[in-house]
Parts: sequence; C-alpha cells; structure tokens
Amino acid sequence: MGSPPNPPFVIPTEKIFAHHPFAREILKTLTDAGHEAVLIGGVVRDALLAQWAGDEDWVPEEVDIATSAFPEEIRELFPDRKVVTVGKAFGVLKIEAPDGRLYEVATFRTEGEYDGRRPRRVELVRSLEQDVRRRDFTVNGLAARPDGAVIDLVGGIADLRRRVIRAIGDPDERFREDYLRLLRAVRFACKLDAEIAPETRAAIRAHRRGIKRISAERVRDELLALLRTPRSARGVRLLDELGLLELILPEVRACRGVPQPEEYHPEGDVYTHTLLALEVADAFVEDPLVKLALLLHDVGKREALERNRGENAAGHDAIGARMAQEVCRRLRLSNAETELVVFLVQEHQRIGHFPEMGRGKQVRFLKSREDPSQPVGDLRARYPGFAKLVQLMIADCQASAMRSRGWLPVLERLPRLLVELQELERLTKARKLIDGHDLIELGVPPGPRIGELLEAIYDRIYAGELRSREEALAYARKLVESG
Ligand code: ATP
Ligand code: MG
Repeated sequence: MGSPPNPPFVIPTEKIFAHHPFAREILKTLTDAGHEAVLIGGVVRDALLAQWAGDEDWVPEEVDIATSAFPEEIRELFPDRKVVTVGKAFGVLKIEAPDGRLYEVATFRTEGEYDGRRPRRVELVRSLEQDVRRRDFTVNGLAARPDGAVIDLVGGIADLRRRVIRAIGDPDERFREDYLRLLRAVRFACKLDAEIAPETRAAIRAHRRGIKRISAERVRDELLALLRTPRSARGVRLLDELGLLELILPEVRACRGVPQPEEYHPEGDVYTHTLLALEVADAFVEDPLVKLALLLHDVGKREALERNRGENAAGHDAIGARMAQEVCRRLRLSNAETELVVFLVQEHQRIGHFPEMGRGKQVRFLKSREDPSQPVGDLRARYPGFAKLVQLMIADCQASAMRSRGWLPVLERLPRLLVELQELERLTKARKLIDGHDLIELGVPPGPRIGELLEAIYDRIYAGELRSREEALAYARKLVESG
C-alpha cells in the first residue's frame, strides 16, 4: 500500500463540478489550507462506469467529500456558510451551498470495534488509506483528487472492471461489524450488474442471521434501494439463495410450492409467478413501492387455498392486503406508503374487471385516489394510485406464462373515460358558478326554460368566456331580459 495512484484512471471532475460548483469550492478551500480533500465513494465509482460505457449524459446526484481536516478546522474555513453536524461523534458535516443543496464533508476516520450495527467509537485520522479501509466494498473504496486522478488503495478499479462486489479486507469481520452490509452487497450487485465474490458470498451466508439485529428503518431503505434498481428480480432471487429472503420477507419466500391452476399459470407456483412479474416490472416500473406491492400481490394465496379446501384462491386479495399491511408496518413504511401498497394488493384482481363495470363504478374507482390539483387528462398525475395499479396489472398479466393481454381492455377503456371525466369536471366547475336556483331568483319560472338557459350559459363557461360567478350572473340577466 501507499503506492502511487493509478495514472491512467482520471475521472472528468470538470464535468462533475459543472453540476456541483460548490463541490469544487469545498475541495479548493480545503486544499488551499493545506489539507487533503478528495471525492469519495459512489461518485467516483459511477463516474468511472459512465466513462467506460461512453455515457456522456451521466450527472452525479450526490457528491461526497472526504478530508484530512478535522470538523472544527472545516467550520473555520467556511465561516459564511451554514454547516450542519450529521453525527457529532462521526466527524461528518454537511455544508449548505449558495443554491441550498447540502454537501457532505467527512473527516477521514477509522472505526473502533462494532456491535454489529455501528462502531462503538470512531477515531478521526489524517490518512485517506485508513478511511478507505473501513468502507464496505472495494468498488466503494475509490477516491479522486480534485484534478480527477483516481486513488485506488483496495483494488476497486479491477473489481469494477470485472463487476465484482468484494468486501474490503476480511469479509467475516466486515459483516460482523455492520450486518446491513449483507443487504448492501446484494443491492450493489443489482445496481452494478455485478457478481458477489465467492468469499464475500460465503461470509454473507454464514452471517445472514445478523440481519435481524439491524433496525427496520435501515432494512427498509436498503430493500427499497434494491427495488429501485432495474435488476430487482435478480436481487430477490439472490436474497433467497443467500438465505436472507426468509429473514426479511418470509411471506414472499413462503410462496414457494403454493400451486396455481395450470390453465392460467403454466409458469409454475406462486413464487415463480411473482418473480417473473417483478422481472417484467423491472423493465418499466420506477416506483419501488409498486415493485414491493408486486412482490406481495399473491402472498394471500396460501391461506386462501387452505380456507377454500384447495379448490381455488378466492379471497386472496383481501388476505394479501392484510398481510401486506403487516409487512409495511414491520418495515416502518410511512402511512401514505403503506396505504398505497395495501391498495395495490387489495385491488390487483378487481382492476381486471374494470371494463365490465358500469361507468359510475369506473369513475368512482378512478377517483378513489385523486389529486384534484392535477389536470384530468394526465392519468399519472391526477390518478396516481390508479396509474400504479395499471402498472402492477400489466406486470401481473404478462408474467403468467400465457402472457395474457388481460390488461388490454382496461387500457382501451381509459382514453374515452378520461374524456368523459374531463366533461364531468367542467360540468362540476360550471355548476359551482351558477345553477337553476340563481335563475329562479332572477325571475325565471321553474320549468324547461331553466334547463335551456343553463345549457346556453354552461356552453359559454366551457368555452372559457365566463370565468366568475359575477360574469355568469350578468350574462344570465342579459339572457333573461332579452327573453
Ligand atoms: P448510491 O449511489 O447508492 O448512493 P453510494 O456508494 O454513494 O451509492 P451510500 O450508501 O450513499 O452509497 O454510501 C456512501 C459511501 O459510504 C459508500 O460508497 C461506502 O464507501 C460508504 N458506506 C456507506 N454505508 C456503509 C456501510 N454500512 N459500511 C461501510 N461503508 C459504507
Ligand atoms: Mg450515495
């Protein structure tokens, strides 16, 4: 160690700074004051990957900086900026940029003994090498100087090239320190399309029970991060192989061996179907909650089958919704997130019958989760719950081995329904401006004439010519007076 950095590996820091000018300023201020300061972790890893893939459009979301300067020294160098302490004992600060974004600046540190979740103490140090050694995987242990020269002290570049997730140092020790790394290994394997190195894999299997010691919140964040990758189905299979699925989502694991009628599901048991559906979703679904709901959509089938003496799985949606609620609570999802997942599981069957419903029922179904501030024509924005249900339905249908086009009639019905809803919306708005009572007050006798007058007035409102109640009343008065 202590060898010079690999000269050929240089990331385009100028491009990164173009999007994060304040990161450049932080690095410059620190190095001008004689400290060492580097970009570290995900930003370096992803910059190299983008470079190798010839991806010109890559923009880093987050830029993490590590430095030999101690927290009080950092504060003194940024007297005019707001500085937030993240973890006092950990030497991590966030500095607010002029544009309001926060940049993490962490002092190099080593970590003392761990208790399986967090270090009992950390020691701030002046050497980058010690800092890199406490990080989780080699691909995450890369740093870059302000000029872009990559510093690789752990063989991260070679592993990134070959797409290998490998614990830094002794894998057993690394997982024993922080069992969340068990899930992080799987997440990065999916995110980077990588394999987990054999010794690292063996260590994960050996330490898998440690995941039980990690807080539900940290497990949730990691699981959702995994579902956010476009390879989440592979991730869930990997979790299963490594013995982690039965520990964090036993309900999904229990779908193994739950039979389905050959006629509809020649692909196999509920577990096989679920994983296939997730694979379909990976290609077009971004919201990890839709993917979580997809993982859970058929978990009620086991109990439903038992209840119906093995004859059918009727009622599995309601049972599944109850189970999904338990899973969401266990994972400490927010109320709004839980509600969405439960809704998706609860309704995943009924959406298939949408085309046969009467128009009133369809409208109510669509409007059950509505954002009135959005335009009616924008299905995704105005009816987010319904749009997500449609995504789930498409993945569910496509994953039955018959590649059922069951979703087609639903989509065919939608454009017209949206037009109808727009009409309904305009009508409701118009009725709020003026109605029959107003005309009676203007002296029109009750009778068919009221309807004719209203129609004429509403036409003007739809056309955008009358915009307020006053304008509508004035126009009505004119009509009444002119007979
Ligand atoms: P992402 O693009 O998903 O944010 P990232 O590499 O930035 O990827 P973070 O979780 O943001 O991942 O963590 C930043 C860096 O901190 C990682 O690259 C890794 O070096 C280190 N790190 C984060 N969590 C851990 C952990 N539990 N154990 C060891 N090192 C960690
Ligand atoms: Mg990050």
